[in-house]
Amino acid sequence: MSIPIDLQSTYQLYIGGQWRDASDGGTLTTYNPATGDKLADIAQATQEDVEAAVAAGRAAFPTWSKTTAQERSQILLDIADILEENQELLATVETLDNGKPIRETSTVDIPASIDHFRYFAGVLRADEGTATMVDGSMLSVVLHEPLGVVGQIVPWNFPFLMGAWKLAPAIAAGDCIVFKPSSTTSLSILEFARLVGDKLPAGVLNVITGSGSKSGEYLKNADVDKLAFTGSTEVGRDIALAAAKKIIPATLELGGKSANAFFDDCDRDLAIEGVQLGILFNQGQVCCAGSRIFVQDTFYDEFMELVTKAFTKVKVGDPLDPTTQMGAQINEGQLKKILSYVEIGESEGAKIAVGGHRATEGDLGKGAFLEPTLLVDVDNKMRVAQEEIFGPVGVVIKFHDEADLIEKANDSVYGLGGGVFTQDLGRALRVANGIHTGRVWVNTYNQIPAGAPFGGYKESGIGRETYKSILNAYQQVKNIMINLGTEPAGLYPQD
Ligand code: NAP
Ligand code: MG
Repeated sequence: MSIPIDLQSTYQLYIGGQWRDASDGGTLTTYNPATGDKLADIAQATQEDVEAAVAAGRAAFPTWSKTTAQERSQILLDIADILEENQELLATVETLDNGKPIRETSTVDIPASIDHFRYFAGVLRADEGTATMVDGSMLSVVLHEPLGVVGQIVPWNFPFLMGAWKLAPAIAAGDCIVFKPSSTTSLSILEFARLVGDKLPAGVLNVITGSGSKSGEYLKNADVDKLAFTGSTEVGRDIALAAAKKIIPATLELGGKSANAFFDDCDRDLAIEGVQLGILFNQGQVCCAGSRIFVQDTFYDEFMELVTKAFTKVKVGDPLDPTTQMGAQINEGQLKKILSYVEIGESEGAKIAVGGHRATEGDLGKGAFLEPTLLVDVDNKMRVAQEEIFGPVGVVIKFHDEADLIEKANDSVYGLGGGVFTQDLGRALRVANGIHTGRVWVNTYNQIPAGAPFGGYKESGIGRETYKSILNAYQQVKNIMINLGTEPAGLYPQD
């Protein structure tokens, strides 16, 4: 697995339009999960650095917040064009740093991110306030204003796409940004800053790399006007508490244990692809992964035969090989956690139907590779059916009818995604309405285009991204109340 691009050996912090080392010179190393090889050193931001980034945002805000919608929209379009010219580079960086297959980074992560900037360029131009006559002679004018300096923290599973989901609406809104990528996967966003940083006035975009326990904590507690977070429910709760203490808004996109359901009348080709899209896409490291696979009892035997065959055929391999369908897990720690869940499942009475081990063929033993895995004989109450495994491990659970499915699907602390495969439209809609989650796919899974709201019910989060409404989550609402009358209200008569 040779590296096809030139990476910098060290990446600095991007603060106030300048690249600089951490104030104490500290660094961390980022690795290629497919080989275990070192890729580069990145700066470990100190508290002083995070405060400097917030200050750079504060200094840039008065001018930036007064730019017009036309100007910011054009900047977003320019950014999209530059990213498009550098698609191959960005896809390769993402694949190297994260271990996900190049066929995904080049067809999903990077193109979807580029489209996100274009989408918000459009949304911004159509963003309007309102003017309403209220209470007789009062004209209520509603205007949208930028919030200020926002802190954004994203995880390692979609480093660039999660970045785009947060950066595009914040830039559109006219906010200044202090952005923290995961220390495991910072390179693509650092390349983003290198490629497009100068399209934005200095201080509008600041990237502070480093670990969650340091840079993340500093940012969580910094003097920002909003926190936006994607990651685990555990850290998300802390972010919400920090925001509550400051009385600032927080949007949270957290974990999930989503139900992907298959009725006996489903289209077989769509269904078999749907199981794989649900639990093998991105090595199963997807917050909305279809990790609880519900199969109607009357379809179970046929389903298992079809999916077992399909899972066995999946090509696990070098993420840079365009024919690879499943790459490496993010690191050895996550791989061990996933395998420990397979053991937990077995100890609870589940059986491995397919996979269940490391993939070690050829050079794969050097990296964090797993076999596509299905556990059967699973009850929805088991830990493997309730806890997020975050890997290519689906648990298969039988259901009898619509009511049984909806009850089991809703027996979860999470409510992010879900899928239903059937050719009966009425049934699809009844199930979609019955499942308490923010997104339900019908006859497909894990499609995440801009233009449709994505986010969680229950412990899966607060707020919706990838949709025009997130622009408002990066804005303040100003109301101006104008009296059009000529007479005093009469509460304090003078004669
Ligand atoms: P995480 O710990 O919640 O990390 C998400 C982001 O928060 C990363 O940038 C992380 O930095 C940062 N962070 C960690 N601790 C922090 C703190 N105390 N204060 C502020 N920021 C902090 O998630 P993870 O370690 O990547 O994965 C743990 C589990 O979360 C996974 O196994 C999975 O179950 C879930 N997960 C969910 C999603 C999702 O999209 N819903 C994504 C990824 C993971 P560092 O990475 O640099 O430490
Ligand atoms: Mg890495």
